[in-house]
Amino acid sequence: MSAEQPLVRVEDLQKYFWENDSLLDRVLGSEPVAVRAVDGVSFDIYPGETLGLVGESGCGKSTTGETLLRLQEPTGGRVEFDGHDIYDLDGSDLTDFRREAQVVFQDPFSSLDPRMTSGEIVQQPLDVHDVGTESERRDRVRDLLERVGLSTDQLDRYPHEFSGGQRQRIGIARALALEPEFLVLDEPTSALDVSVQAQVLNLLDDLQSEFDLTYLLISHDLSVVRHVCDRVAVMYLGEIVEIGPVDEIFTEPKHPYTKALLESVPRASTDERARDRETLAGDVPSPRDPPSGCRFRTRCPMVVPPADVEIDQADFRAIMDLRERIERRDVSLETVGDGRFDFEDGSVPDTDVPGFVAALKDRLLERDLPPRHDAVVEDALAELAASNWESAARRLRTEYESVCERDRPELDEGPHPAACHLYGDRPDAAVDPDSW
Ligand code: SF4
Repeated sequence: MSAEQPLVRVEDLQKYFWENDSLLDRVLGSEPVAVRAVDGVSFDIYPGETLGLVGESGCGKSTTGETLLRLQEPTGGRVEFDGHDIYDLDGSDLTDFRREAQVVFQDPFSSLDPRMTSGEIVQQPLDVHDVGTESERRDRVRDLLERVGLSTDQLDRYPHEFSGGQRQRIGIARALALEPEFLVLDEPTSALDVSVQAQVLNLLDDLQSEFDLTYLLISHDLSVVRHVCDRVAVMYLGEIVEIGPVDEIFTEPKHPYTKALLESVPRASTDERARDRETLAGDVPSPRDPPSGCRFRTRCPMVVPPADVEIDQADFRAIMDLRERIERRDVSLETVGDGRFDFEDGSVPDTDVPGFVAALKDRLLERDLPPRHDAVVEDALAELAASNWESAARRLRTEYESVCERDRPELDEGPHPAACHLYGDRPDAAVDPDSW
């Protein structure tokens, strides 16, 4: 980590969106619901570096970028740019910040006004900020178009007359017009053909050296991130789960989510293609109601069992998944055993309970458990024979409650921290993080 001061310092940034929050909702007595798009994110970006922000779609990457540019107001936390809290800025200080911090959007097709020529688009920020004389602005526009690899003959053309890669070059020229120090690059190549992506990335690399730029690169494409970033922050459900130097993230990932993301990338070499690929099970939970403790725990293949429970990792994952379904009441009890049990009044006759439990276990668990754990699961499923959902969940919770659901893991210390109970103090960890 650099000893110099960060250009951008993000501290505990939160951005919530609210649902059921209109006047009508309040009149009808609906409770507002927070969608926690960004929930306590902290990181620094040092002058001249490129920090990558990666994660699955919907994890809060773009909202983080927009909030730290003050395109959205935060719910909490602070962002310092060059030592100043950007949410305290107003007047000319805010105008200066807007000049210094610019954005290149994902989609060059929709981010350019189709009624303006390329020259007008690049000149617009200079006009808005009243920079120089009219002829100085025109000279600057010509210079910028050439810097991004376009010809001054193309000044009077409209966006539809350019290819996708050329349009993104216009977007980059526009972002550079005010000589910013910092650019947020929000999926800058994901709308482009693969053949054009490398050209745009190389251009961004050249411009960074030429203009001493600092980048936050938001991307779901890990190969792009590996190619251009110095450090990488990995986001999951509104939180940073790991951050570190790009080589370490790719060769020695710590967090199970980072490992799963990397495992999901197709392998280039034949050797690697032959390797088993772990794929991430389950859907990303809703940011309206994120899981307690570690937000990745509903999908994590390393979720930590209680210290006094000896259990195979895959068996523990299967029991946690079963419990999730019971807690969500996501099991159709009436159809167990193809409906052969009499489930009237919400329970099966006592004599049918063993058969009902066996049929339910067959349906919900794809593996045989050791006898000790099998007995606990059967106890829980027997509660479902009388629709006692809460008792069934409690039976499993009492036996198998994990530190991962109780405590929210914090990023540990050092240049490559991860937010996972397998690291740091490892309070209940009974598994070896290197064993996966
Ligand atoms: S804290 Fe637990 S659930 Fe979360 S990533 Fe680590 S092991 Fe998995």
